[in-house]
Amino acid sequence: MATHHLLLLPGDGIGVETMAEVERIIALLNKSAKDKFETTSDVVGGAAIDKHGVPITDAAMAKASNADAVIFGAVGGPKWDNVPYDIRPEAGLLRLRKDLDLFANLRPAICYPALADASSLKREIVEGLDILILRELTGGTYFGSPKEMVTLEDGQQRAVDTTVYTTFEVDRIARMAFDLARVRSKKVHMAAKWNVMRTGVLWRDVTAAAHKAHGAGVELHNILADNCAMQLIRNPKQFDVIVTDNLFGDILSDEAAMMTGSLGMLPSASLGAPDAKTGKRKSLYEPVHGSAPDIAGKGLANPIATIASLGMAARYSLNNPKLADQIDAAIAATLAKGLRTGDIMQPNMTKVGTTEMGKAIEAELAKLIA
Ligand code: NAD
Repeated sequence: MATHHLLLLPGDGIGVETMAEVERIIALLNKSAKDKFETTSDVVGGAAIDKHGVPITDAAMAKASNADAVIFGAVGGPKWDNVPYDIRPEAGLLRLRKDLDLFANLRPAICYPALADASSLKREIVEGLDILILRELTGGTYFGSPKEMVTLEDGQQRAVDTTVYTTFEVDRIARMAFDLARVRSKKVHMAAKWNVMRTGVLWRDVTAAAHKAHGAGVELHNILADNCAMQLIRNPKQFDVIVTDNLFGDILSDEAAMMTGSLGMLPSASLGAPDAKTGKRKSLYEPVHGSAPDIAGKGLANPIATIASLGMAARYSLNNPKLADQIDAAIAATLAKGLRTGDIMQPNMTKVGTTEMGKAIEAELAKLIA
């Protein structure tokens, strides 16, 4: 029987509400005779600015580094819109990603059968959809230097963001894409703009070399990032794993997200390289959505994305794919019963709040792990 050490960082807004439902699930799991979970919590984002003057403390960073997995809620909100840029709430999340070297962001887009009609695309296009977007997370346009805004002699402003990648950065995520595809449908699409960007040429060439060295049994297709955006709407089921850079991944993963009905349904994982001695990766799991100030504090948030993030942690960090499958099955069973939070509400379904949804998933999971 394993004991897993989790750091819970609820953050702000609905992050606090959806994390409470994760704690409910963990309490249930701790009642069973199987794996045990020890949790510690800390503040991050706006809550940490209010308490400590910074969006994450060094002490919280140390806890994150030592945890088997970090489960993160969401950060931000209008209260902190005018804090200095360097200590804005999102800087807490960026520091976690950067300091833990979480270079790979996994975003599954799965369409639960009960929700096929909640997508803005036709049922036949999304039903049974199961794709994984693998986004490079620590390089590229969001981190490249120079990154600056300067005032020119004529008074105009000039802004620069730099897109920069090295062979090492592309190779490690390409290899991860082949590893992930190997246990899925054995197909990787590499999305880049090699027609107009030098970094795109590097992505194409390094991914091809990684495929030769490490991609046995997996098909590799190159696709221009703009065409990928179009094909995701036209025929998303043609994809299995899409690997791409930080900027394109940000956009393509949000696009894929909407096929599944709501931001409130989508978990994600951010992983580092395996430790040379233990083989363990640093990891952070979080819903794709933000702190949703428009519904925060009202008990309306959909907790499924955060609960499914715990499921991803079981799969990728806790070596317990069976528990991951059980959590997914409990979510599917709850949806099949017709329970819906407002964001996924459909005609003739039963509208519930955050806590009711959490309790219903807990009840389904209790049956599955009994
Ligand atoms: P958001 O994801 O918070 O909300 C977008 C819309 O989706 C809102 O209408 C919201 O009510 C709805 N929504 C989101 N999650 C939901 C859920 N679980 N259940 C039901 N409805 C849900 O994005 P936003 O409004 O652009 O940003 C709000 C704040 O969150 C900003 O401060 C932003 O910077 C921050 N943010 C944080 C993260 C993060 O912590 N990773 C990500 C995105 C945005």
